[in-house]
Amino acid sequence: MNDPGIKHIALLGSTGSIGKNVLEVVRQYPGRFRVVALAAAGRNLDLLRHQIEAFNPLVVAVADEHEAGALAQSLPAGWGDRVLAGATGVERAACLPEADTVVSAIVGAAGLLPTLAAIEAGKNIALANKETLVMAGELVMARVQRHKVRLLPIDSEHSAIFQALEAGRRQDVFKLILTASGGPFHDWTMERLAAATPAQALSHPNWKMGQKITIDSATLMNKGLEVIEAKWLFDMALDDIEVVVHPQSIVHSLVEFIDGSVVAQLGVPDMKIPITYALSYPERLRGSAGRLDLARCQDLRFMAPDPERFPALPLAYQAGRTGGTCPAILNAANEVAVAAFLRNAIRFPEITRVVADTMHRLPAAPILDLGSVLDADLAARMQAESIIASLTLQDDTRTTTEPAEPCRTFSNH
Ligand code: NAD
Ligand code: MG
Repeated sequence: MNDPGIKHIALLGSTGSIGKNVLEVVRQYPGRFRVVALAAAGRNLDLLRHQIEAFNPLVVAVADEHEAGALAQSLPAGWGDRVLAGATGVERAACLPEADTVVSAIVGAAGLLPTLAAIEAGKNIALANKETLVMAGELVMARVQRHKVRLLPIDSEHSAIFQALEAGRRQDVFKLILTASGGPFHDWTMERLAAATPAQALSHPNWKMGQKITIDSATLMNKGLEVIEAKWLFDMALDDIEVVVHPQSIVHSLVEFIDGSVVAQLGVPDMKIPITYALSYPERLRGSAGRLDLARCQDLRFMAPDPERFPALPLAYQAGRTGGTCPAILNAANEVAVAAFLRNAIRFPEITRVVADTMHRLPAAPILDLGSVLDADLAARMQAESIIASLTLQDDTRTTTEPAEPCRTFSNH
C-alpha cells in the first residue's frame, strides 16, 4: 500500500537532461518522492545502472530490446523479471500500478504513446515532452479530462504561465507571452546562420539540455512547439499567444490581463525549479537551486523575434492554425531534419526548409483518432528523408535562405 504522503514516480527518459534533474530533485527531498520505475532508450546503460543502484526502482524499461537484454544480464540475480524491453516495456513502466505520477521526459514523438498510456491508467503527468501535445494535443487533453488526471508542465515557460495565471480569473486573461532565449544565434546574420555548425548550435548560452531541444532552441522551432503546447495546456487561441526574445532567460514567461497588468514569473535558469513545482504542486518546497539576485540583473532585454532569420516560429504558428495533423507533420519533419543537421547532412537553415517543404507536400488531415496522428508522423518522416536526400544530391546548387512555404490547410483537400 502506497504511503499517501509520498509521490511514487515513474520516470520516462531518466538518462536525459530532464531525467537527471528529476532524480536530483528526488534525492534532494528524502521521504517526499520514491522512484518506482525508470525508462530510457538504452544508449547509456552505465548511467542507467547507476540510477538503478541509487534509486532501486521496482522496474526498469529499456526501449532498445538488445540493450534491455544486456542490462538484465549485467544486473544481480532477481532483476531479470524487472527489466522490461521495447516500446511496450516503456508503456508498462508508465502504467505501473505502484506509480501515481509519471514524469514524461522522453525526447520526441517516442514520448506520445507512453504518456497517453499513463493518462489512461489514471496517472498524474508531469510533462516535459512537449511533442506529445504538439502532435496530439486535442486527443491528449480530452483523455486528461476523461480520466480526471492532472497534467502539469515542466517546461519552464509553461510552468511560468501556469503560476502567473493564478494571479487572476481566466476570463480576464488578455494574452500569454512566452519568452525565448533566442539561442546562441539570436544576433547572427543570415550569412553566418548559413554556415552555422552543429557544435555552434549545441552551445546554448543559458540552458544545458539534450541535443534535439538545443538545436530547436537555435532555430526557434522550440518556441514554435511551445506555442502549440501552450495552446493546448491553457486552452488559448494561437493569436493570443505571443513570443518575445529575452536572451537572459530570467523572466520565464508572462500573462497579460485585460486591465493591462502583466504578471511574470522570474528565477534563475535551472530546470529543477519547474520540475520541483510540477512534482510538489500545490505545495512549494524550499529549493537548493540558485536564488535570483535582482540587483545583478541590470540588463534584462526583450525584443521581437525575427521571422526572416528564424522562419521556424511563423511556420509553427501556421501549423497550429491549420490544425489537424499539420503540427504532427511539422514535428516529425523537424525531428528528421534536426538529426540530419547533427550528422552534417544539411545546413542549419535547411532544417526549417525541410520542415516547410514537408508541410507543403503533405496534406494535413483532421485527427480522427490516434492512428491519424501516427500515420501523419510516419508519412512526414519519409517525406522529410526524401527531401534531405535530394538536398544532399544537389549540394552545389541549392539555396538556403528561401522563405518558408505556407502550410496547406486540410479544409482545401
Ligand atoms: P535528452 O535527449 O537529454 O533525453 C532524452 C531521454 O529520453 C533519454 O533518457 C533517452 O534515453 C530517452 N529516450 C529517447 N528515446 C526513447 C524511447 N524511444 N523510449 C524510451 N526512452 C527514450 O532530452 P531532454 O533535453 O531531457 O528533453 C526531454 C524532453 O523534455 C523533450 O521533449 C524536451 O523538449 C523537453 N524539455 C527539455 C528541457 C531541458 O531543459 N532539457 C526543458 C523543457 C522541455
Ligand atoms: Mg521551454
